[in-house]
Amino acid sequence: MPANKPRPIIGGNWKMNTDRTSGLALAQGTARLAKAVEQTVDVAIFPPAVYLPLISQVLCDASSKVILGAQNCYIGEKGAFTGEVSVSMLKDVGVSAVLVGHSERRHLLHEGDDLLTAKVDTVLGAGLTCVLCIGEKLEQRETGQTDRVNELQLERGLKHTSIDQLARVIIAYEPVWAIGTGKTASNEDAEAAQAHIRTVLAAMFSTDAAAAVRIMYGGSMNAANATALLAQPNVNGGLIGGASLKIDEFGAIVTSAAHAHA
Ligand code: PEP
Repeated sequence: MPANKPRPIIGGNWKMNTDRTSGLALAQGTARLAKAVEQTVDVAIFPPAVYLPLISQVLCDASSKVILGAQNCYIGEKGAFTGEVSVSMLKDVGVSAVLVGHSERRHLLHEGDDLLTAKVDTVLGAGLTCVLCIGEKLEQRETGQTDRVNELQLERGLKHTSIDQLARVIIAYEPVWAIGTGKTASNEDAEAAQAHIRTVLAAMFSTDAAAAVRIMYGGSMNAANATALLAQPNVNGGLIGGASLKIDEFGAIVTSAAHAHA
């Protein structure tokens, strides 16, 4: 267990949800609740790409410290990559963090290891924060492969990452079977997986560098289960899907993180 828990981070992954009006309201609400905890908790949102410029402006107008994140990026800088968005375009509209390897991109959109390693390299190379999402499928958990799957996804994702760059890496442990299903890892299972992730990071980099990495839990985190999950020694935040679309619910999770870190 890390001696000093790193500052927690709560991120809202809006996925392919919201429209202009509801996204603006959600961003304004998130800016308000983030202000109340800005001494203790980092708050991030990952809106759909098309709304990033609009929401960037809202956060700027509110002088908000909410971290604006993208759900995805491409590895090319510019050119013939129809439909893709580069990291320099994301930076240009105020994005400072990017999700890489979310389970929906790994499994629904079939993004493989090589592409994900290249995305991590691209995000970090551009000076942005990389939120690397990892986690096991149900059959992998049931056959005792959870730690091995997380190890492989970490080793592959961070294959070219330097110890200096690690300071801009956040890990989101998201068991695939818990995402959007209403099923949450038990506090003990989340802690065991995340403690193992930190051990792997220590072996890859150093104990001190690993201790400073924020490891978020993701998978049906909500207002009711957040306090107990965030109290675990190696749970340093949450990546929230469904519950991030309801400002009261998201606010309650952010407040739980503030209390857990008080
Ligand atoms: C996610 O999409 O990263 C996620 C954890 O979703 P949910 O909170 O809805 O399970």
